[in-house]
Amino acid sequence: MSSPSLHGLTATVPPEVRLPPAPAGTALYVHVPFCVVKCPYCDFFSVEAEGQDLSGTVGALLHEARARAPQAPKTVFIGGGTPSLLPEPLLVELFDGLDELTGFRSSAVEVTAECNPESLDPNKAKLLTKLGVTRLSVGVQSLNAETLQFLGRAHGPDAALRALEAARETEADVSADMIYACPDQSADDWEDELSQVLEFEPQHLSAYNLTIEEGTVFHVQRERGELTTAPEEVELACFERTREVAEAAGLGRYEISNYAQPGHECQHNLTYWANGAYVGLGPGAVSKVGLARAGNPRSLAPYLRWVQKEEHATLWSEQLNPLHRLGETWWLGLRRSAGVDPMEALLTAGLDGTIDDPAPGLARELEHQGLLENVAGRWRLTDRGWPLADGVARKFLALGT
Ligand code: SF4
Repeated sequence: MSSPSLHGLTATVPPEVRLPPAPAGTALYVHVPFCVVKCPYCDFFSVEAEGQDLSGTVGALLHEARARAPQAPKTVFIGGGTPSLLPEPLLVELFDGLDELTGFRSSAVEVTAECNPESLDPNKAKLLTKLGVTRLSVGVQSLNAETLQFLGRAHGPDAALRALEAARETEADVSADMIYACPDQSADDWEDELSQVLEFEPQHLSAYNLTIEEGTVFHVQRERGELTTAPEEVELACFERTREVAEAAGLGRYEISNYAQPGHECQHNLTYWANGAYVGLGPGAVSKVGLARAGNPRSLAPYLRWVQKEEHATLWSEQLNPLHRLGETWWLGLRRSAGVDPMEALLTAGLDGTIDDPAPGLARELEHQGLLENVAGRWRLTDRGWPLADGVARKFLALGT
């Protein structure tokens, strides 16, 4: 048995932690790893598209799909990277190929494609919906030219507005992705930008605060003292303002950073937050099926080689212990407004009511601190707990360590 290696051609993993075949209906994620430029805050796996083998990568994605994609997926999410960057013939090849292999066009209740403004014009938006996309997720991020430049984005405010308009003219749902708490941005600046975006009446909004992840250019700059992030009080004010402005526009918060018109919540992401099963294809993609999880290399060359040779590109896999699975289910679930039902969490973690469940005890402790509340049997964050959601949820993650 050889160890997984980024450099070798083999990607052998212990058979006992190989993923079981995904049942029909499992959520499907496809990672298109190309962008116009690499943003300095981004920790997703992506590379600049110039000079890359786009066609070969689409071929590899379909090759991997033939071996691993679930039949009749209930949701499909084409993410990245920037899927809208693919030229039209490759988009047709990818979507037609995936449909031939999985039948997603008749099974999926939701098909999302991530798009960035520099590569989403009315023709591309229409083509994507014709190919089966029901939800266009547009990476607006900001409507301020200086902020977009700071974020290293390839588009300016006008392109963002044009892309929102192009998406709105289709029959697909529109989701706007935004980032707040950039340096020098006040809560009033943020509210102005957000309000302008919401004038387009998107059915969905994802609004994340700028976080500095290890391994990114921003992280290096902050370590060197060249980058200062927004003060905590501005971050908190932007977070509160997001809810007020989104709710006034008819979008309710259903997850800590996600808002939707009723009935337009992202079904694919709800599967992640329910700690459900999903299959991820493409470099860097992760899959979770049954009680096991596995991931592909975050690098294009080995991914392409392995898929060609072995029809899969599994670099690592793991079987989580029961408490870890339980902690993860609470950690993810508490990010949702719906919160967590303890019995449901046990079942999701592959356990039953006979074990001594430590999670409700921790939930009661946090209730005494005013951070959680129990409503009709479900634990959820209080108004005081929401801004501290990450820290609170992580306490549950620690149950499994
Ligand atoms: S466009 Fe998105 S995926 Fe691409 S580098 Fe920027 S943040 Fe990352």
